[in-house]
Parts: sequence; C-alpha cells; structure tokens
Amino acid sequence: MRVEIADYCIRCGICIDLYPDIFIRNWETHNIDVAYDEIPEKDKERVKQAAADCAVAAMIIKE
Ligand code: SF4
Repeated sequence: MRVEIADYCIRCGICIDLYPDIFIRNWETHNIDVAYDEIPEKDKERVKQAAADCAVAAMIIKE
C-alpha cells in the first residue's frame, strides 16, 4: 500500500500532529512528505484513519 498527498492538500498539519512518525512537513517544499514509499503492515490502519480524517480528502491510497 502506498499513499500520496494531493496538490490540493491545504497543509493544515492535522495528519502530522496525529501521526508524526508517518507524515512530515517538508519546510523546503512546503509539502507533506510520507515517511515510507510502501506503508508497513503495522501502519496501514493508521494511514487509512489519517486519510479518513483529512478534511479535504487529500490522501490518495493506492493498494
Ligand atoms: S490532514 Fe490532509 S489537508 Fe491536512 S496536511 Fe494532512 S493531507 Fe494535508
């Protein structure tokens, strides 16, 4: 499973606050980086929850 952050992400930072080990603010690009290319099994449910919690549905999960 992979997750991409869409361009229309509003950089609210909620995903970073809730899951700082997975989502990281990139101060150079001002984008949200994902710690993994391939989401580890142990974090898949957390990523799905983060995607559900994103107010603008900017997390695109690819199975
Ligand atoms: S919660 Fe959604 S809109 Fe907010 S920073 Fe994360 S991906 Fe972007």
